[in-house]
This record gives sequence, C-alpha cells and structure tokens, in this order.
Amino acid sequence: MNVALWLKRAAQLYPQAPALLKGEGVVATYGEFYRRARGLAGALQTRYGIGEGERVAIFMANSTEYLEVMNAVWIAGATVVPINAKLHPREAAWIIGNSGAKLIVSAGRYLAEISNETSAAGLPVIDVNSDAYAGFYDFDAVDEPLRQRHGDTAWLFYTSGTTGRPKGVMLTHGNILAMTLTYFSSVDEASHSDCTLYAAPISHGAGCYSFVFTLRAARHVVPESGGFDPGEIVALAPRLKNMCMFAAPTMVRRLVTHAKSAGYDGEGLKTVVYGGGPMYVADIIEAVDVLGPRFVQIYGQGESPMTITALSRELIIDRTHPRWRERLGSVGLAQSSVEVVVADEDGKQVPHGEIGEILVYGTPVMKGYWENEAATRETIRDGWLRTGDMGTMDEDGFVTLRDRSKDMIISGGTNIYPREVEEALLTHPSVAQVSVVGKPDPEWGETVVAFVVLEGGAQEDDAALDRCCLEQIARFKRPKQYVYLPDLPKNAYGKVLKTELRHMLGKDD
Ligand code: AMP
Repeated sequence: MNVALWLKRAAQLYPQAPALLKGEGVVATYGEFYRRARGLAGALQTRYGIGEGERVAIFMANSTEYLEVMNAVWIAGATVVPINAKLHPREAAWIIGNSGAKLIVSAGRYLAEISNETSAAGLPVIDVNSDAYAGFYDFDAVDEPLRQRHGDTAWLFYTSGTTGRPKGVMLTHGNILAMTLTYFSSVDEASHSDCTLYAAPISHGAGCYSFVFTLRAARHVVPESGGFDPGEIVALAPRLKNMCMFAAPTMVRRLVTHAKSAGYDGEGLKTVVYGGGPMYVADIIEAVDVLGPRFVQIYGQGESPMTITALSRELIIDRTHPRWRERLGSVGLAQSSVEVVVADEDGKQVPHGEIGEILVYGTPVMKGYWENEAATRETIRDGWLRTGDMGTMDEDGFVTLRDRSKDMIISGGTNIYPREVEEALLTHPSVAQVSVVGKPDPEWGETVVAFVVLEGGAQEDDAALDRCCLEQIARFKRPKQYVYLPDLPKNAYGKVLKTELRHMLGKDD
C-alpha cells in the first residue's frame, strides 16, 4: 500500500478542508494539496525522469512545500531522502552521493550551498520558491499513487554512524503504515479537527507524524518562523486549537519557561509528544504543572521510527501510583506493534532490573541500511533490532534507559557522534589528540566538550578550533567547551578512557 493513498482519500472525502497552513494562513485545501502533489509527481516523472524506487533528496528548512514534495515523490513510486537542514552542506552532499539521488529539491540559502557542493555531480536541483516549481502544480498529473508493495522503500533516513559516516535507514511503506497505526493505539487519538505544528524538523520525528494527520485529513501547520519559537507557539495554539506537536525535551523546557513568564496555561494545545533524548523527571513534572496533562513520551530511533516504547498521558499524570516518579523516569511500555526485550550480548533476555541492550522486533523495524549489508547484519539479528541503547525493564514492562552502548551525545534532542567531531578537530595542525564527550546540561541535556592534546609548541586557541569545526561539520556539533590536557587518560591497550573524562566533568558513568 502506497502511503500517499492517505492523501488521496483525505482529498476525496474533505476536498475543501484546510490542509496546509503557514502560520494561521491556509495555503492549500486537501483537494489542492493532492492536485499539487499529483502535478509535481508528473513533473518528477516526465521532466526529471524519476522512476520507481529512485531517490529524490530534500535539503531545506520546514515548509509546506516540503510536504507537497514528499507526497509527490511517493505518488511517483520513488523514495524520499529528507536531509537534516542543520547539516553542513558537505555532509548533505555526502548523503546525496551515497543515496544515489537523481534530483535535489531545495530552497533559500540551502539551495546555493548544496548547488556549490554538488555542482560537479551535475544533478538537477528544483527550487521550491521558483516560478518553475509553481508551474509543476499544473503539470500533466499522475492519475493516482503508483501501487507499492509493503517492502518498497518510501523514506531513506540518514542517521549518524559511530564510525563516522551516516547510514541510510530504509523505511518501507509497510514500516510507515505500522508506525502510523501504532500512533493511534499507543500514543494518542487524532481527529479531523486537530492540527499538527512542525516546530521540529520535518526530516525527522515531526515529519514521521505527518502521516497521522493526513490520514485524519487534519491541518498541517508550518510556523512562520519555520521552526521552534515558544512565543509563536503560545500565540498560535489558542487560535488554531487542538494543536499537536512533536518536541525534543529541550524544546519542552524552553516552552515551559516561556509559558511561565507569559502566563500561558496550555490553551489550544492538545498533545506534545516528547522524545529523542532524555527528559529529567523534575522537568516533566513542571511541564504538566504549567501546561496541563498534554504530554506523551515516546522512545524510538530511525531504525524503528517513533515506535519502541511510549509513556502515556495517563501514566504521566497518575500521581497516586506508588511508582509514579520511577515511571516518569522511564520511557514507558512497548508500543503495540513491537516486542521489546532487554538482553545480553548473545541476545538472551536478562532478568527484570538488570541492565542489558534493548532489542526490538516488529513491523515498524527498518528493512536494513542502504547498500550496507555488513552494518545491517550486525544491527538486525534474527529479525531483532539491536538498538545500541542500554536499559532495564521492570516486572510491569516499563523500560528505563541507563546508558548508551554507543558513545553518542544527545544535545537538544539531536544525536552527535563524538567520532565525527574528533575527526574534524584532528585535521587541525595544532591538535595531536582529541577525545569528545557529552557534559550534562540542564537546558540541552548534554553539551559537547572536547579534550585536546596540543602538538608541541602549539597555543591554546578555542576560536581556531571552532573555525576548523565550522568548515567541516554542522554548527550544532561543535564543542561548547575545550579542555586542554598534557595527555589523554588511556587503558593498557591505549584506548582513551572516556569514563575518566566524563568524571572530570562531574558526570558519573
Ligand atoms: P535517532 O535515530 O536520531 O532518532 O536517535 C535515537 C536515539 O535517541 C535512541 O537510540 C536513544 O538513544 C535516544 N532516544 C530516543 N528517544 C528517547 C527518549 N524518550 N529518552 C531518552 N533517549 C531517547
């Protein structure tokens, strides 16, 4: 089943219903949204020769056009490669090359940046702000979404790899179907009168939830700011009403801080689904105190998108339960479409309360990594996804994340792999050795800290190291702090002891 059929059906049933909004302004009804997507799909096929299964990369900030293009690609039976707009254009270009994308869709400053990087490859680029793009709406339209099998890849989602290069997670139409239906059974109800606000990137979690709202023919709202602005949300929610959004814990904290100072009590806000990084217990308690019972937590990862566990609204507010606080510190219970176990290295389930790796089995789990069979074999064994997350499960099935087996840092809900930052810093002539770790931070969850050993005679120079990072990696990945050491602590095999570095920052392992 092609996931774009949900758009077709919404357009059939509710052609006049508002579908795409910029702020409060309706830019397309469902009838118009579907007509545009079909026209664009026609242009993709005829003008750009995009065939079934071929990849179309999208590199731009959130916009209503983002949703039009994604649906057009699916109608044409092709695969979307949504690239995190926060990435360095060089990183984006690498993803475009790796995915073998035939076409790039972009806008604004992203367009100039990506055109520079990929000009040698001679790939065509569509500018969604151009007249040509608007002309595609009236192109010889594709009649209806091409028939797709459950195993056909709809979405190629790149996650940062521990070994430096990101890997393309192949999410099929079947995976997306499972993820979407699971929302209704394990996360929240959704209705035609709802709207979903894209305050977080469409290329990630917020975009994953777009299907839920298309299926209900509800409103898709891209804020005028294009991203997260607490003042804007507080102003929009009471006017648009029944507003739902996906938010990283950092965003929730900032929203709550703003709400307190603005005297906002959550009016118009229906549900905030939070996840992507750890939420402090005190923060979620305060969020409910200030904004009301509007929160649901999910735990997922690209490889099992949005669908590992969930902590429901009811459990979050059940203050009378003797284990309420403990549960608030957990990521909740397995979602309805997956089995979740905590296991040892051999994949054997460990007793309740013992730490092991979290394994997932079920229909939302990815088909595999794009053109990377070795990594797929290592990550999916006997059908079970190895998440790389360490945790425990109690007798009632509540899962608590204890640590990550990977060294990943989560800052503001975004993953940062230390290796990428280390590799960038090591290109600087003054840097002899470097090790990057996360430091606990009340606002961001964690911030990036680099421990640096300088070459003999080199001077400490934070600004120079910053520039070196900015030339190679995304801005959000660069260290917030540099600590210079004469040598890095290492074990007998010469492996850097990140645990000791974390201790130096006051973080227990
Ligand atoms: P990504 O693949 O970018 O979505 O990152 C997924 C990773 O983020 C997971 O493997 C977890 O380590 C972390 N994560 C996701 N949701 C949560 C959550 N609710 N609490 C804590 N960590 C989370």
